[in-house]
Amino acid sequence: MKVSKADTGPFDRMSIREWVEGNMRDPMVRNIFYSLLRAASYVAGPDLPAAGPVLRQLQNALKGALYLDRGWGELIEQLRQKAADLGVQLVTSAKVVSLDTRGGIVRQVVCEDGTRFDTDDVILATSPSIANQLVPFAEKTSLHKWNEQAIEVTAACLDVALKRLSEPKHQFAYGVDQTVLFSNYSRAAHLSDDGAQVVSLVKYQGKETDPDKDLQELEGVLDLMQPGWRDQLIVKQYLPKMTVCHDFAHMKRLENPGPAVPEVRGLYVAGEWASHGEVLVDAATASAKRAVQHMLALKGKERKTLYEHRGIV
Ligand SMILES: Cc1cc2nc3c(=O)[nH]c(=O)nc-3n(C[C@H](O)[C@H](O)[C@H](O)COP(=O)(O)OP(=O)(O)OC[C@H]3O[C@@H](n4cnc5c(N)ncnc54)[C@H](O)[C@@H]3O)c2cc1C
Repeated sequence: MKVSKADTGPFDRMSIREWVEGNMRDPMVRNIFYSLLRAASYVAGPDLPAAGPVLRQLQNALKGALYLDRGWGELIEQLRQKAADLGVQLVTSAKVVSLDTRGGIVRQVVCEDGTRFDTDDVILATSPSIANQLVPFAEKTSLHKWNEQAIEVTAACLDVALKRLSEPKHQFAYGVDQTVLFSNYSRAAHLSDDGAQVVSLVKYQGKETDPDKDLQELEGVLDLMQPGWRDQLIVKQYLPKMTVCHDFAHMKRLENPGPAVPEVRGLYVAGEWASHGEVLVDAATASAKRAVQHMLALKGKERKTLYEHRGIV
């Protein structure tokens, strides 16, 4: 209850472990908090993530989470539709191979098939390592520093669609002694047309990963939660190492990335890794908003300078 109302700002420069050890006395409560904060951050260990951002995520989650009917693709589709209605032209399946930034000014986006787009501004929403590859002389810009400090977060994901649940009351489980999460998302969202139950399991990974061992662990949890699930199986998908994010607000971070790349005029970064204290997709959207606001503010200033000499007579 205290956490839901706490001012989390003071915990931005403290790790999850420091926060838990300093605020929870009961060892079991500590373990439950480690588990909850792991699920909020997707980071396996408590030593790297800054506590403040993850606690804010937990505060948001305590207000209730939204589960999307038909999954995340639905959100992307609505976004695409909204953009199209506003006249945005989306170019898909086009791999960008470089940017033309001669003289330290954004000039062109160059695609693999040779197409070039003239532009004054670019928001790079790729990973920091790809951003470094796309920008000439990136090693002389902040992009290099942001890439150097980045720590990637990955997860092993097992999704199964089951005809029915053998244990209908077993819908959700946080691992305490295992870094796993089990959730039947069909309890909250429409994910199949034939009543199949779509169950997802995630194993939060550290640096060392072992695809077979992770699968064994995830299937072990499924055995425990839904005994006999193999007899009910319609389809199974195992993704042994999914990138959750390319970087996050961690204790080794020297500075928050973006919104602007100060060395190149018109160049910005966005994406979950460009977090200024937000986590997961909130960080992706907040960083995009920051980049656009920065761009518009600069354009406003330029316009003002351009017309400054005009007076009203
Ligand atoms: C299993 C799992 C569960 C998750 N659950 C949640 C959740 O419940 N809530 C939540 O908020 N977040 C969740 N996340 C995190 C969420 O998925 C990320 O926050 C989000 O996808 C990050 O978006 P992004 O735009 O920063 O990066 P990305 O999604 O990595 O997008 C980068 C894009 O750049 C493109 N790209 C790369 N190079 C080029 C190039 N040369 N030319 C053109 N395009 C290029 C890539 O194709 C990609 O589409 C989850 C992640 C995982 C893996």
